[in-house]
Amino acid sequence: MRPFLADLHVHTVLSPCADDLMLPRGIVAAALRRDLSLVGICDHNASENVAAVQAAAVQTGVSVLAGMEVTSREEVHVLALFPDLEVAAAWQGFVYGHLPLLPNNERAFGVQLVVDERDEIVSVDERLLLTATNLTLAEIAAEVDRRGGLAIPAHVDRPAFSIISQLGFVPPDLAVPALEVSARANPEEPRAIHPSLAGWRLVQSSDAHFLGQVGAARTLFWLEEPTFAELRLACRGEQGRRIEYCWGRG
Ligand SMILES: [Zn+2]
Ligand SMILES: [Zn+2]
Repeated sequence: MRPFLADLHVHTVLSPCADDLMLPRGIVAAALRRDLSLVGICDHNASENVAAVQAAAVQTGVSVLAGMEVTSREEVHVLALFPDLEVAAAWQGFVYGHLPLLPNNERAFGVQLVVDERDEIVSVDERLLLTATNLTLAEIAAEVDRRGGLAIPAHVDRPAFSIISQLGFVPPDLAVPALEVSARANPEEPRAIHPSLAGWRLVQSSDAHFLGQVGAARTLFWLEEPTFAELRLACRGEQGRRIEYCWGRG
C-alpha cells in the first residue's frame, strides 16, 4: 500500500460560480503541480465536464474521478463520486429528473459551459443548476450507494449549504462512509467544529472554484493504486485501505 494525495472536490466552468479558467487542461496542470494522484470533478448538480477532464488527464498520472456536488432538498451539498462515466451519466439523468426545470440566470449566477479536453466550448447548459433537488439527504446517500458510488456530505464546517448549517448536527444514523471538511478547517481539531463529528471518517478537499485553489486542501489515502475502487475501500475503512486524516473510528 502507498500514500496518494487526493482533492475530491474541484469545480469546472460548468458551475456558474467557478472561474472562467476552470478548464480541463488547467485543472490537470494544477493537479500535477500539487502532486495530486486523484481529483474528483464535482460541479453543482451536473457531471457533463467529467469526460473532458478525464481525457485531458490521459497519461499524466492523474486519476480523474466522475463526481457531482448534489444539492439535497434540505439544501445540503453532498459529493457523489462514481466508478465510471457510465454510472455518472445515469446518475446525471436521475438528478435532472429531480431538479426543477428552470432556466439559468446567467447575469445573476454566471454562465454554465460544457467543454472538451482541448478547453473548447461544446455547449452552454441553460438549465438552472444552482438550485436544490427534491431528493432528501438520506435518499441521495442511499441511491448513490446503490449505484456503487460514494456519498460524502460536503464542507460540513461551512456556515451555509452544509449538513451542520442545515440540520444543526450530523445524524448518527446517516448512511455515508465519510464527511468532508472544508479547506479552512484545522484537521487537528475536528471536534472543535462540532461535537457530532466525533467518530466520523473525515476527508478534506479544496472545493476549488479557481485554478490556484486546486489541491489547496488535500487528503492522504493509503491505497494499492489511485482508483475509485480503492478510494471507496478507504472511505469505508475496508481491506486495510485507509484515510490518513482520520480521528475516531478509523
Ligand atoms: Zn458546496
Ligand atoms: Zn463545491
